[in-house]
Amino acid sequence: MAARVLVSDDLSPEAVRILRDAGLEVDVKVGLPPAELEAIVAGYDALAVRSATKVTPKLLEKAARLKVVGRAGVGVDNVDLDAATRRGVVVMNTPGGSSVTVAELALAMILSLYRHVPSATASVKAGRWEKKRFQGREIAGKTLGVVGIGNIGSVLVERALAMKMRVVAYDPFITPEAAAKMGASLVDLDALWREADVVSLHVPLTEQTRHLVSAETLARMKRGAILVNCARGGIVDERAVADALASGHLGGAALDVFEKEPPPPDHPLFHTENFVCTPHIGASTEEAQSAVAIAIAEQLVAYLRDGVVKNAVNVPGLPKEVLDQLAPYLPLAEKLGSLAAQLAPHGPAEVVVEVAGELAAMPMRPLSARALVGLLRHFLDTPVNEVNAPAIAKDRGIRVLEVRSAEPHDWASLVTLTVRGQGGETLVAGTVYGKRDARIVRVNGFRVEAIPDGHVIVCENDDAPGVVGNLGTALGSAGVNIARISLSRLDDRSGAYSFLNVDSAPAPEVLERLRALPHVRSVRAIRL
Ligand code: NAD
Repeated sequence: MAARVLVSDDLSPEAVRILRDAGLEVDVKVGLPPAELEAIVAGYDALAVRSATKVTPKLLEKAARLKVVGRAGVGVDNVDLDAATRRGVVVMNTPGGSSVTVAELALAMILSLYRHVPSATASVKAGRWEKKRFQGREIAGKTLGVVGIGNIGSVLVERALAMKMRVVAYDPFITPEAAAKMGASLVDLDALWREADVVSLHVPLTEQTRHLVSAETLARMKRGAILVNCARGGIVDERAVADALASGHLGGAALDVFEKEPPPPDHPLFHTENFVCTPHIGASTEEAQSAVAIAIAEQLVAYLRDGVVKNAVNVPGLPKEVLDQLAPYLPLAEKLGSLAAQLAPHGPAEVVVEVAGELAAMPMRPLSARALVGLLRHFLDTPVNEVNAPAIAKDRGIRVLEVRSAEPHDWASLVTLTVRGQGGETLVAGTVYGKRDARIVRVNGFRVEAIPDGHVIVCENDDAPGVVGNLGTALGSAGVNIARISLSRLDDRSGAYSFLNVDSAPAPEVLERLRALPHVRSVRAIRL
């Protein structure tokens, strides 16, 4: 069944087309009141939002099959991340999609302040012609201090350099080499306040950055310096900024974001000179709105179709190159987990995920998380996915071991899953041919070559003539069509194994008939 996506905020026709073209079932229902949204959300695997839809614990509680929330944009303040994580719902955003747009607004703010564009406009419109009052400054040759050189900060650095500014930056999570590559000198915060003619903030709002710009830090800035905040409200102490502007210590300030949005009409900054502001429109350009909508559509497709998690805000992310290489193995790992769970349907106590070949050089956590998803889903009622699977396994006392093996194999890469528990030990292994062709290549002692998809019948039998014919006849007379058979025998011929891909689920009585056939030891129906 195709995964179902609910688009509950205005994305773009292009983004909706990407979702539909990928075979997903898409409903666009923009602006539903919370109660109506809660009434229908249970039918969807994915929710695509901008900032209007509030993804509350109450909504998530009703969203029984929801796997992912895609936020077209950066901020996820409208999504209750804790509640989503607890329910195993991946929350993704689209960092980077609006970086140029926000950096351009920061530049516009700097230029507006340096050339008094907004107040000069108001003055001319009021019938005045105050050429002297609006004498400005050039930005060329000035020092820009960028706090936070992530997606947006780094774009601003590039633009500022092109406009002949000197750039110093503070970012504790970036190496001096990486900053130097961007063309910025990494300095400590003290030096940044001291040296910058223009301070532009591009950090998230965290415990460390709340009121990063305070009366005390403003006092350390150059007299006449200007301050720009297009990041998040609360990073600057607005009262202190108003005081610093009033005293003339600060030469100008520009805010796109406020501690309280919208700000109250008597906000102290509204009575100050050389203050410029916009109503949180940092990411609002046609280009950015379309870019983030397309990005979230592509990310939702990658997740729902291939299980590739990109830009998740509640799971650790991975670089794109790594994800691209891992992508075909993630669904395989989940199928292996699912197969192991169905072959040994007793509480697992230990799970060993082993990778060999080229995969051994890749991060293992996404693979082992997906294997756990496949395994645990069969044991639990709560939604399990790669976000919460490792934690659930731990909570349940299941030991998870990740092993990289250098051992050469017949395949470029091999994933082996061994599950130990009350039911003894079950081992399954698989590989991927080409880019997407997953195969199960081992089940316990048997080498097979089976497609891990859809309805499967696994049968252990004596290595004797006629078994396969009997199975075929019995299934045929029950109307169950066999799509593919993989046969395997033990080297000493003490047992054989048949892995049958069938087009429909065999009824319990059909399975009973198969079990009663001569030489058949066990039969199990499996859904992969
Ligand atoms: P990012 O995560 O790519 O970059 C943030 C950078 O800040 C990182 O490099 C990080 O190392 C650094 N950082 C974290 N804590 C720091 C600290 N204490 N001191 C200095 N540096 C620190 O984020 P981004 O996409 O560049 O976004 C930057 C800010 O812009 C965020 O607050 C984001 O919410 C905001 N934003 C605003 C708008 C808007 O409409 N105005 C739109 C998009 C993003």
